[in-house]
Amino acid sequence: MEKPIKHVVSLSGGKDSTAMLLRMIEEGRPVDLILFCDTGLEFEGMYRHIDKLERYIGQPITRLKSPYDFEYLLLEHMPKRKNPELFGRKGYSWSGPRNRWCTAMLKQRVIDKYLREISKEYTLKQYIGIAADEPERIKDYNYPLVEWGMTEADCLAYCKARGFDWDGLYDIFHRVSCWCCPLQSFDELRKLRKHFPELWAKLGEWDEKTWRTFLKKYSVKQLDIRFAFEEECLAQGLPIKGKAFFDALNERLKEGDS
Ligand code: SF4
Repeated sequence: MEKPIKHVVSLSGGKDSTAMLLRMIEEGRPVDLILFCDTGLEFEGMYRHIDKLERYIGQPITRLKSPYDFEYLLLEHMPKRKNPELFGRKGYSWSGPRNRWCTAMLKQRVIDKYLREISKEYTLKQYIGIAADEPERIKDYNYPLVEWGMTEADCLAYCKARGFDWDGLYDIFHRVSCWCCPLQSFDELRKLRKHFPELWAKLGEWDEKTWRTFLKKYSVKQLDIRFAFEEECLAQGLPIKGKAFFDALNERLKEGDS
């Protein structure tokens, strides 16, 4: 016998997946299950957004969470190592572009496990909030935003028009994901330091305790020195690029290390 269809919306909570969900509901498209996977690393404004969205649509949002916590995996977990250079190191340490253990462990595995269970009884139709101007798509999933031709800017405007503002997160950041993500741009990190000093301090604390520096070329402490130096330069009307800037920055970094 054929299994019934379940329409499953993947909700990251960001502007794109939120716009997709809102428009699907407004257009009367079937939405049977809304999944939000919580890494535990979202900004408070994002958690408030999820609660507000749930009230607005009047439909429950299923929150999934890994049994492991990021801090434990980062600093304490002892995985089986293949690379002899890493034997005995505690924790996975920071992710890099080629090793996004946190995405795999805190999101993908959790979602896959949940979906595997319900797929025993249902044929799943999954909806992913990738905007029309984002290239990365996987065959077999449904992309309503692409179908509607909605870009990232359209999505934000659509959500804002319905009263969603993420407590101002998108007025600060271009993209909103885990606040401690080492894959975010320098610019986003500057803003994190400026607008969320308590999270920046936490980042520094974790960085001191782990064996890989936060970014390949910078620890959080070094980033802090750089960003503070940039502020000094800008206040004096000096550029924050070019040889003179980097020579002076290197001196500051050396002082910081001593
Ligand atoms: S957004 Fe960054 S920190 Fe969060 S799970 Fe993905 S790679 Fe990891």
